[in-house]
Amino acid sequence: MRYLILSDIHSNLEALEKSLKLAEGRYDQILCLGDLVGYGPDPNAVISRVRPLAAAIVRGNHDKACCGLMGTEDFNYLAQMATDWTRTQLTPEHYEFLRGLPNGPLQVDGIELVHGSPVDEDEYIFDSLEAVQAFQSAGAPLVFFGHSHRQGGFLLTADKRLQPIPLPAIEDNSPVGIALEKGARYLVNPGSIGQPRDGDRRAAFVILDRDQNRVDFYRTPYDLA
Ligand code: ZN
Repeated sequence: MRYLILSDIHSNLEALEKSLKLAEGRYDQILCLGDLVGYGPDPNAVISRVRPLAAAIVRGNHDKACCGLMGTEDFNYLAQMATDWTRTQLTPEHYEFLRGLPNGPLQVDGIELVHGSPVDEDEYIFDSLEAVQAFQSAGAPLVFFGHSHRQGGFLLTADKRLQPIPLPAIEDNSPVGIALEKGARYLVNPGSIGQPRDGDRRAAFVILDRDQNRVDFYRTPYDLA
């Protein structure tokens, strides 16, 4: 089974369409780590596109905020404005859809899906300490997380050494694969489709191949303007 794993789409339809096109024929199912909406201009179109395609979706903090499940006191000014605007745009059906999304962690086929961290859906995993805490809370050896909008993640080797997942530069549309080692544990961030924050404006995603035990990391340019 091959899973296309998408995170932090943030109402960016152009980035989503480009990513889906590139991944076409290379996956069997889609899993989504949340933040479908917030920031970008096409919340309804993004929900309409992802909803029928995704086998599983966990909610993100922006999904919660945009459907009134949480306040925006902790959001920066731009995120607050985007949330207020998105609330006025969402159709009643999509508003209810967001309200019904499950929180992470969610187990699918022996892997764990979270928006932020296994510790809590709204926690970030940026550094090694947060990674250690995430590994301690994880319910599976292979965890996929988003929220930080940074492609990559962490690896705990079989002999318990913690390290960042080694990722060389990724060419446009040409994946870099890592083999999942037996006995090792992984926290993998596919990166953000709609709003990367790792200094690379290209849309980011991964494809997990369960049979081959590998994760392919992709970056793809899209019509940003
Ligand atoms: Zn996000």
